[in-house]
Amino acid sequence: MAEASYDFVVVGGGVVGASIGFGLARRGARVAILDQGDAALRSSRVNFGLVWLQSKGDGMPDYGRWTRRSADLWTGFAAELRELSGIDTEHEQNGGVSFCLGEAEFEQRRNTIQRMHNQVEPWVYETRMIDRKEVEALYPGVRFGPEMVGASFCPHDGVSNPLRLLQSLHGALKTIGVAYRPDAPATAIRRDGAGFAIDTPAGTFRAGKLVLAAGHATTKLAAPLGLEAPIVPERGQLVVTERVAPILPIPASGVRQTRDGTIMIGTTHEAAPDLTTRTTTGNMVHIAERAVQVLPDLARLRIVRSWLGLRVLSPDGFPVYMESETHPGAYVAICHSGNTLAAVHANDLAEAFLAHRLPERLDSFHPRRFHVSQAA
Ligand SMILES: Cc1cc2nc3c(=O)[nH]c(=O)nc-3n(C[C@H](O)[C@H](O)[C@H](O)COP(=O)(O)OP(=O)(O)OC[C@H]3O[C@@H](n4cnc5c(N)ncnc54)[C@H](O)[C@@H]3O)c2cc1C
Repeated sequence: MAEASYDFVVVGGGVVGASIGFGLARRGARVAILDQGDAALRSSRVNFGLVWLQSKGDGMPDYGRWTRRSADLWTGFAAELRELSGIDTEHEQNGGVSFCLGEAEFEQRRNTIQRMHNQVEPWVYETRMIDRKEVEALYPGVRFGPEMVGASFCPHDGVSNPLRLLQSLHGALKTIGVAYRPDAPATAIRRDGAGFAIDTPAGTFRAGKLVLAAGHATTKLAAPLGLEAPIVPERGQLVVTERVAPILPIPASGVRQTRDGTIMIGTTHEAAPDLTTRTTTGNMVHIAERAVQVLPDLARLRIVRSWLGLRVLSPDGFPVYMESETHPGAYVAICHSGNTLAAVHANDLAEAFLAHRLPERLDSFHPRRFHVSQAA
């Protein structure tokens, strides 16, 4: 079969691989993205769509800074994608809230926000607690349940449509000449001179550099190349209501209205001992009940859809980026919050992969943080 050669091969065409591939090609690299077909396990198709800062980075300040950087880049990123693909990602950045039910929850949230602020420069989050009156002012005409005492509010939070984002990325990749190959999943990867050879059912692809961003499949592909991609998959379920007139102008973590009018309610956090995506009603009831406590009128709406997605979660929930020491030029990129980070992946991370060495500011994301010391 014909062999093709590129500056970079990116393995994985979900939102992470597509964003990185886009950024590399925008900077002049010749890029191929190898992917599976539509039957693939793909978190990018099942997520909640938030472009979210306020809860990111507790315990890893660099993740807070990285997420803020992405939030700042998102508007330009969305405009660039729209121009190249003709597809609007429906990005909005009007702030976001995290509702609190009862005083105890409000205090707990206040403490978390304070702790996160104490770990970084004041400009990073700018999240503040707001009382019930201020929440009501953000959602004119909306009736809240009596237990909703307030919320945290971050002006940098926002939302996009995850399906449109993926579609728009893939459209833009085509426009800028990236070879996107959904028929060519990587089956074996080996050193090939100074670069890499990637075997697929559609032939062998050669590249000077390689990025593994294949979601749940990354761990297995990474190991032979001296790369680590520890993933503890987590199930996230959500439910979607029938369409109603616009009532929720600002997204919240756990409830948001789409441009189509449906209301998304989510998401659960459940251990995933296997990678099945079958939904379970019990856990969905909990998230729906909480949403109704916040917004009692939701109880009158019909649920029209529900689904379960598998989070690509590292053991501490923060991203993992690394370059192989044994196979220089081979990189790993896995993360939860691939939508939120899409803009920084297409810019700063792509630049880092193009440079000779990964910059120091990415050190925090190296998986050596999971290595357990053997010293007694
Ligand atoms: C319920 C839920 C809600 C979420 N909500 C949000 C949110 O509100 N905001 C946010 O920012 N993030 C959210 N996320 C997280 C976000 O969806 C993920 O971070 C993101 O989708 C991960 O993208 P990915 O490209 O790494 O993985 P995936 O989307 O899983 O893509 C991996 C790709 O690799 C390909 N692949 C696998 N094996 C191979 C191979 N051998 N060769 C080539 N290709 C291969 C697959 O075909 C697939 O296309 C949510 C996730 C879930 C599950």
